[in-house]
Amino acid sequence: MRVFRPYLTALPLKTIKQHQQPKPKILTITATSSSPLSGRKLRAAVIGGGPAGSSAAEALAAGGVETFLFERSPSTAKPCGGAIPLCMIDEFSIPLHLIDRHVTRMKIISPSNLTVDFGSKTLKSHEFIPMLRREVLDSFLRSRAQSNGAQLITGLVTDIEVPDFLSSKPYVIHHTINNCKRSLAVDLIVGADGANSRVAKIINAGNYRCAIAFQERIKLPDEKMACYHNLAEMYVGNDVSPDFYAWVFPKCDHVAVGTGTACARRDIKVCQRGIRERVKEKIKGGRVIKVEAHPIPEQPRPRRVRGRVALVGDAAGFLDLLQRVFYGSNVGREALVLELCGDEYVQRMTFDSYLYKKMASGDRWDDVKLVLNTFGSFMRCKVTFLFFHGEEEGRVDVASLFQHLALEIRSN
Ligand SMILES: Cc1cc2nc3c(=O)[nH]c(=O)nc-3n(C[C@H](O)[C@H](O)[C@H](O)COP(=O)(O)OP(=O)(O)OC[C@H]3O[C@@H](n4cnc5c(N)ncnc54)[C@H](O)[C@@H]3O)c2cc1C
Repeated sequence: MRVFRPYLTALPLKTIKQHQQPKPKILTITATSSSPLSGRKLRAAVIGGGPAGSSAAEALAAGGVETFLFERSPSTAKPCGGAIPLCMIDEFSIPLHLIDRHVTRMKIISPSNLTVDFGSKTLKSHEFIPMLRREVLDSFLRSRAQSNGAQLITGLVTDIEVPDFLSSKPYVIHHTINNCKRSLAVDLIVGADGANSRVAKIINAGNYRCAIAFQERIKLPDEKMACYHNLAEMYVGNDVSPDFYAWVFPKCDHVAVGTGTACARRDIKVCQRGIRERVKEKIKGGRVIKVEAHPIPEQPRPRRVRGRVALVGDAAGFLDLLQRVFYGSNVGREALVLELCGDEYVQRMTFDSYLYKKMASGDRWDDVKLVLNTFGSFMRCKVTFLFFHGEEEGRVDVASLFQHLALEIRSN
């Protein structure tokens, strides 16, 4: 059986005019079966009612598949900063009223607290970073899946009986509803149960590396909240994360203050204290209304499809820490923020790739200038790179790297 999910494909993306309601997309689902089904529809279970599961359930149900969407806890929300790329509004037909904030100002703050405005000059008049609350988005997507015919089962999936690989026998989903044990036989399963996916374990999909993200939602006094009306902040530095960044994202009536790390997972609370310290004046008088933490996959799982089970979303692990801050020292980050983030071309390329989720097609000469500027700022800041050569491991500064490259070119 094959299910084509247009949501996951790279559609030609249009830019969205503010306040223009996106039109729903036409879904195409193709399902084939080796042994014909006798007088009934194909039956699918989608495990997990987050964005991945709800959109999969919606697509399956709209395509004529009898679909059961399992969600253990529809009233709680997955921890999430809530920033989504602009193109998702169109691609997922998300109504604009679900969006809490239209962020048009980004600030990147260096380890020594120097600030670069990112976006105020480069964002086009109709562009913004949509910020929303996951509790709002997730419940909207689940309801839409239901209105397309998916049946929501509020229950915890505890186990799955998996038939032999080549057999056409059903999968049996064992689950509990209000502590009562139930089971349901289905033809296929979509595992959308997040980073700690039980479905992935059951089908032996293999493990992936995870980062961890921690976040506090803080209700600010009105005058402090007003500063974050359309502003999001990103902080870099060893104090807030050794390999990622920390953020302050505005929501409807509060801010989300959080951080993430892959290499210092045990120290995540230390990093969180770091970002709270950095923003302490800005959040003074604020009240923490929620504390949340969750793993974030860093890579895909080794197997994402097994038999008639497919993993999607965080369960599959496609999310990559794209925005990861690569330069491993505060010196490098200082250079990154001051010299590169301030560059209009860097900003435009960043927004083009983030907002529209596509490889931004840059200008050849601007690219060359960018490479030279990057090396230039590394040299000025004496940034070093870790190198591996055979058994050897060590550090090299950028000036020596250039000399070495020049020698190599001459000797060839
Ligand atoms: C602190 C933090 C901040 C983040 N910020 C951002 C951001 O700003 N922008 C962004 O794009 N991404 C962000 N992410 C990542 C984003 O949250 C995830 O990529 C996204 O939630 C994945 O969606 P999903 O549908 O695959 O899984 P999830 O959202 O994890 O949904 C899985 C669902 O499955 C349900 N479930 C799990 N097990 C079972 C079971 N056995 N039975 C029944 N139901 C089950 C869960 O209750 C849950 O509702 C952030 C993550 C964290 C942790």
